[in-house]
Amino acid sequence: MKILVVNAGSSSLKYQLIDMTDESVLAKGICERIGATGSISHKVADGRKFEADIPMPTHTEAFQCLVEALTQGELKVIDSMSEISAVGHRIVQGGAIFSQSTLVDDQVIEDIAGLADLAPLHNAAHVLGIKACIAALGKDVPEVVVFDTSFHQTMPPKAYMYPIPYEYYEKYKVRRYGFHGTSHRYVSDRCAALMGKDKKDIKMITCHLGNGCSISAIKDGVCIDTSMGFTPLDGFMMGTRTGSMDPSVLTFIAEKEGMSPKEISDMCNKQSGLLGVSGLSNDARDVNSAAREGNQRAKLAVEMQRYEVAKFVGSYAAAMNGVDAVVFTGGIGENDLRMREYVCGQLGYLGVVIDPERNKSQGKEVELSTTASKVKIWVIPTNEELVIARDTLALISK
Ligand code: ADP
Repeated sequence: MKILVVNAGSSSLKYQLIDMTDESVLAKGICERIGATGSISHKVADGRKFEADIPMPTHTEAFQCLVEALTQGELKVIDSMSEISAVGHRIVQGGAIFSQSTLVDDQVIEDIAGLADLAPLHNAAHVLGIKACIAALGKDVPEVVVFDTSFHQTMPPKAYMYPIPYEYYEKYKVRRYGFHGTSHRYVSDRCAALMGKDKKDIKMITCHLGNGCSISAIKDGVCIDTSMGFTPLDGFMMGTRTGSMDPSVLTFIAEKEGMSPKEISDMCNKQSGLLGVSGLSNDARDVNSAAREGNQRAKLAVEMQRYEVAKFVGSYAAAMNGVDAVVFTGGIGENDLRMREYVCGQLGYLGVVIDPERNKSQGKEVELSTTASKVKIWVIPTNEELVIARDTLALISK
């Protein structure tokens, strides 16, 4: 059985075709610059790939390109789209409506579109992606939606409420939602499996550190707190995002610079974080190497991010009255040994001991903690597409 996983953004459409008999990826790719020039990059399992500039005025044309890439030419992996049993879509914001993945119908599409207020960049694009997919494949192919937020719907009100006048929660649903849920779910399930224990019996902290970063606290098998909030801006310093800070900084700068709410939002989302502090790049590799060469602002940026990660992990250990396992994932979590070394060093008071040799490993599933460590430390590469494909399979098999 083959399942297509689709992640539609405002100007891009990522896809993976997964064969669920062995969960292998048959092909994957990305259509980019939708609405402008348009291009596709398509790769098959043996590593062969092609790239082409193709006009894509809308997501419909992008989806058509994807169909052609999968079914035509030298790098085709299926003869026709009828070989695809179902499609799983990644959806960023499910609000308080969706606490789990679900089959798509007209009401579901309406609900996702209705949540666009809470995720303006994402949900509208997801709806375009779903509609383009239905137009290409017809209504008989089941479509499933998997939400970044649903894993976090188990948080108690004391974790998801903001200390602002209650009326804004009632009027506008302003609260913490949390994101990266499919990643936190995947690595926490995998961590429990690797430890040979029931997830319910492990107090876990999962650190998804990529361009976007979030940390979750998982207790009794469910998420009880997470760092991203009302939007993916909350939490701690990321590639281009601020994370949490004193809100007065923003009103102060807005007044001094005469900036609009939109300009302030852009500053916090696109010009801050590693990029804003270093003035060089949002990419941790670039900032790390500049820091190693002695660039002081790059060094500061790197130190600030590591410090904040350690603080979040410590605060979640307190929130759970202990921690049994910490997991690192995402591009930085999977590869940046100095981030892991620093964070684990700061957790010495919890009895964390890691093996420096094992910490040299990059992009692989590995336990970093030694037998002497009171807390297990794992690196687990995330696989959000696989979670989406598995949820899709589970829902269509019901
Ligand atoms: P996204 O959030 O866009 O999915 P990723 O999870 O792919 O991002 O993570 C991207 C981040 O991971 C970038 O900041 C990149 O620099 C960082 N990264 C990748 N490889 C390394 C490495 N070897 N050392 C440090 N950072 C790395």
